[in-house]
Amino acid sequence: MRLLTFQHKGDIMAGVLMEEGVAPLPWRDVRALIESGMEHASEAAAAAHLIPLTDITSLSPILKPGKIIAIGLNYLDHCLEQGKTPPERPTIFTKFSTAVNHQGGEIRWDPNLTQMVDYEAELAVVIGKQAYRVQEEDAYDYVAGYTCLNDITARDLQRADRQWVRGKSLDTFAPMGPVMVTADELPDPHTLDIRCWVNGELRQESNTDQLIHTVPKLIAFCSHAFTLEPGDIITTGTPGGVGVFRDPPVFLKPGDEIVIEIESIGRLHNRVGPYLA
Ligand code: ZN
Repeated sequence: MRLLTFQHKGDIMAGVLMEEGVAPLPWRDVRALIESGMEHASEAAAAAHLIPLTDITSLSPILKPGKIIAIGLNYLDHCLEQGKTPPERPTIFTKFSTAVNHQGGEIRWDPNLTQMVDYEAELAVVIGKQAYRVQEEDAYDYVAGYTCLNDITARDLQRADRQWVRGKSLDTFAPMGPVMVTADELPDPHTLDIRCWVNGELRQESNTDQLIHTVPKLIAFCSHAFTLEPGDIITTGTPGGVGVFRDPPVFLKPGDEIVIEIESIGRLHNRVGPYLA
């Protein structure tokens, strides 16, 4: 199933994306649906009256994740472009859930705070059930599905601070969506083409087969340190081609259009809005 969270006539709800429209579901968002166990989603969708796609506003599938765990340096080509050796264990950091943004949402910042804002196309894993001290071989049991995430980053803040949280967590800096594809449709998430365009120019092009630390390894690694909960996000890192390592470096500016595409999941569109006053 391709699940989404959307707004329709003032109401926010989860739904199933179909060819002819969206089947509304009686849950507030995809996280509430995941917490309910998801087994009643298909029958609820079959009974629903479809809403035309033109009548909805797409929101982040998970409106407010408990945690967004992000992985640095997890594609070989992204390590090489910055002359770094691939890390032996995952490098993890966090993005606050107040950064969540959605399909079509504007990315905005105060130019007095940052002038080096960059894109990062990423495959994001949505956790399906509570996971603590999970073994790699059992890890897929804890995945609800997958979505696209743009790990927008203020490079100057990332460098100025001794860790990355502020530079990664500005409001609007975590666009996600447009849908969460359920895990049964993607039994192996390490075969997917991943691309990013800025104003139509292809900037990142790779495949999730380049991931250094795989999805099961990331779930095992994280869950041996802390509990993962339904709706938590693990965003798995970005391939090469980010703006900061281009020659010369290029950063985002108001009016830029960013598209992230992951094979079998979809395309996440965002625009850089006007500077915050
Ligand atoms: Zn990233």
